[in-house]
Amino acid sequence: DEPFTPDDLKKIEQRMHEIVKRDLPLQREVWERNEAMRIFDEIGEKYKVEIIQDIIPEGEEVSVYRQGDWFDVCRGPHLPSTGKLGKGFKLMKVAGAYWRGDSSNQMLQRIYGTAWRDKKELKAYLHRLEEAEKRDHRKIGKNLDLFHTQEEAPGMVFWHDKGWQIYLAVEHYIRDKLRGHGYQEVHTPQVIDRSLWEKSGHWDKFGDMIFTTHSENRDYAIKPMNCPAHIQIYNHGLKSYRDLPLRLAEFGSCHRNEPSGTLHGLMRVRNFVQDDAHIFCTEEQILSEVSAFTDLLFEVYRDFGFDEVLIKLSTRPEKRVGSDQTWDKAEKALEEALDQKGLEWELQPGEGAFYGPKIEFSLRDCLSRVWQLGTIQLDFSMPQRLGAHYIAEDNSKRVPVMLHRAVLGSLERFIGILIEHYAGALPLWLAPLQVVVMNITDRQGEYVENCVKRLRDKGFHAESDLRNEKIGYKIREHTLMRVPYLLVAGDREMEQGSVAVRTRKGEDLGSQTLDEFMERMHHEVTTRVN
Ligand code: ZN
Repeated sequence: DEPFTPDDLKKIEQRMHEIVKRDLPLQREVWERNEAMRIFDEIGEKYKVEIIQDIIPEGEEVSVYRQGDWFDVCRGPHLPSTGKLGKGFKLMKVAGAYWRGDSSNQMLQRIYGTAWRDKKELKAYLHRLEEAEKRDHRKIGKNLDLFHTQEEAPGMVFWHDKGWQIYLAVEHYIRDKLRGHGYQEVHTPQVIDRSLWEKSGHWDKFGDMIFTTHSENRDYAIKPMNCPAHIQIYNHGLKSYRDLPLRLAEFGSCHRNEPSGTLHGLMRVRNFVQDDAHIFCTEEQILSEVSAFTDLLFEVYRDFGFDEVLIKLSTRPEKRVGSDQTWDKAEKALEEALDQKGLEWELQPGEGAFYGPKIEFSLRDCLSRVWQLGTIQLDFSMPQRLGAHYIAEDNSKRVPVMLHRAVLGSLERFIGILIEHYAGALPLWLAPLQVVVMNITDRQGEYVENCVKRLRDKGFHAESDLRNEKIGYKIREHTLMRVPYLLVAGDREMEQGSVAVRTRKGEDLGSQTLDEFMERMHHEVTTRVN
């Protein structure tokens, strides 16, 4: 009846170490179901009786493990003896939990632990946890005044000025890239009549994920994805093979009704913007389009400072549309595109979507965590469902192949990943505030303002700090706010038309003219130094 405390965890751990030292063998026994229920009832283990009753059918046997004078129901397997556990384990925390996850049941306590091969692995894991906690994007987002979420809009983000600057920097970057890679940017409605989603199949398949609204006796969906809307644009005007490939991109704002329990900062939201695009092409163009897409994706990931990309190719599932011949061609095109570039990839047989095979791209962050971001999926179904076609060279009417692709996936989630990867110290080209200019005494006030103006005229995010505070205090504060460059102007700098340059890492770069400094900034921004 008394809740466990962290002190209790220590005591339990000590006891565990004793049991490990005794190296007791673990023995598996098989009991008859009703006999097992009788024995557990006799020793007052009512929950175990309930478990056996619920999950073991009448007439079947129960597997029980025995260790010394202790025994428990368990499916197994177990280590052969307690000594094998070694020292690589730790009890982490206590939390309340309703019996079998049902709030009408009694509240029990659950103790969480972690076990590793040895002490060294345990230590490394605990270090990673600690680092991850320090880098938690929700915490950094609050400290750096980037964004917030609140109960009235679950899973939706209130972007503050500085967070939105990051967002815009990412968006502008992607927009530039897409233009260079031959995409057209489009923009489609948020609210679209139910009938279109019925035709596309989403209303049936994703019904409970879709937010709806209605007006004047019509039902509408707040779009959960952009694909059907892009086909509407494709369908405007007759297309010929000469128009293909047609690449339609959109920073598409989507809403999905994710369960409230799964929402998590920027990582799992209900409203997000995808760097989405759909490529309409012929079957012959699949290979070159997939190849061009992987080039784009690697460029983007590298520019954001991620070097390690993991690739998975998912092929035809049992339930699917399209002929085997089409699937053969499509899967081969995806494979070839990856192989031609000498990329390593992993095959996930049967994991493709019912409408086509796909490639998924994940990256590894500084804590070795893997995030799946990019995807390219072939679709043999939707264009046909929504009546897309083109006139082929032989004058026949054909259905184009549709490729759904995204590089970053959700911009919200990607920014969350960036914040954690860089622990808030974003590279200069992404930093919402790039430079702060500080005075030492009132005499330099005007000079500082003039420097800020010149920096802003060149397009840099610059601010002045003219507060009547000690210079050390100001530097400390802006360093904590992860501002990349801190410029200080005293009398001498003012006379020479220079600034004393420091970085957020604490490096002193000495005195430079403002022009020299801006040259440095410009170089760092355009080459995207991480
Ligand atoms: Zn799509």
